[in-house]
Amino acid sequence: MRDETIAIHGSFEDGATRSVAVPIYQTVAHDFINADHAAAVFDLEVPGFHYNRILNPTNAVLEKRLAALEGGSAALSVSSGSAAVAYAVRNVTTMGSNVVCAPQLYAATYMLFAHVLPEEGVEVRFAADDRPGSLGRLIDENTKAVFCESIGNPAGNVIDIAAVADVAHRHGVPLIVDNTIATPVLLKPIEHGADVVIHSLTKFIGGHGTTLGGAIIDGGRFPWADYPDKFPMFSRPDPAYHGVVYNDDFPDSAYVVRCRAVGLRNKGSVLSPFNAFLLLQGLETLALRLERHIENGRRVASYLRNDPRVAWVNYPGFRDHADHELVKRYLDGRYPSVFTFGLAGGYEAGMKFFDAVKLFKRLVNLGDAKSLVAHPASTTHRQLSAEALATVGVTPDMVRLSVGLEHIDDILEDIDQALAATGS
Ligand code: PLP
Repeated sequence: MRDETIAIHGSFEDGATRSVAVPIYQTVAHDFINADHAAAVFDLEVPGFHYNRILNPTNAVLEKRLAALEGGSAALSVSSGSAAVAYAVRNVTTMGSNVVCAPQLYAATYMLFAHVLPEEGVEVRFAADDRPGSLGRLIDENTKAVFCESIGNPAGNVIDIAAVADVAHRHGVPLIVDNTIATPVLLKPIEHGADVVIHSLTKFIGGHGTTLGGAIIDGGRFPWADYPDKFPMFSRPDPAYHGVVYNDDFPDSAYVVRCRAVGLRNKGSVLSPFNAFLLLQGLETLALRLERHIENGRRVASYLRNDPRVAWVNYPGFRDHADHELVKRYLDGRYPSVFTFGLAGGYEAGMKFFDAVKLFKRLVNLGDAKSLVAHPASTTHRQLSAEALATVGVTPDMVRLSVGLEHIDDILEDIDQALAATGS
């Protein structure tokens, strides 16, 4: 099935009631048939549900659809995108190991990497830029993963995933890609060599600004068993789950099974089934919504570029943008509607624009049906030092737009009146 069809029909058939919508299984636990059945489910010998911190039937449909859309072997849903990032990285790291990452990151991911993981004994090495060579230079024998955002938020850089995956694999290291902004409809990192894909489902996939969620998708191809010393967690009996050896029992999904059995089971950032239901609703229309997002985003970027009150527009959809070749190669020329610009009047004008919008919502989300505006330097990124801001690609005058699904004329009229208010 194609993406549009998987998003609506994938992995669901309700034999019991013939329900067409995926039901919300609002239950904490499931009744075992008998003691043998309980033991087999607990030992992961038969598929089944036991306790919903570990797996829930509504969430399972979402997970299977996401795995299918990304071309992965299995997926895990969690309560937020940030939980997905943390679980994905901690699933392969131990004290004394390191992760190498591209510097253009969402602010909370940057904070996790720069300040939280080091306290847990995991060093994160920020490359000077997102080029494969710059990332490769930082990899050593203690590196357990390379991490990047396929499209950096808010920097807008597009990663050469195949080249970065190549560098990582030459060092025997998996590539983890945060594919939140691109979504699997525009880009499937696993097809280009990535080993793990993570998502904030909160954004385009949910699509309506109602629901937090995250997902981790296992590409199923990284040869963990070839590196038993580097990744002992998959090759040796795991004491955190009664001695299971993930490589032996789950050769195609060792990574995500361990993430569920150890990360989710013991740390518990569970996605509620009601939220999974809302995210499934969003997923059904993702491909259709993206068409309008992309077209509205393109119209807004062109409008801004031709306005003398605007100093710069960082929109990789433009043919002369430095990353446009990558947009063509990885996104089929379709750039999502999240991008940044700066005003001729600098920081002050940026704040005035932010204050003057009427249709755009002033908030720190993206990928909503509604048009959204953010001023990263004073909101999401306000706790970052000047140096850290430069690292992740945020300038003080930067305004970030997430262009929604409203009529394009209403969107442009709002931008025009807000630009007028800047006095530039
Ligand atoms: N990754 C990216 C690229 C994001 O933009 C965000 C949030 O903005 C996250 C991860 C974190 O997602 P959540 O807000 O669902 O925790």
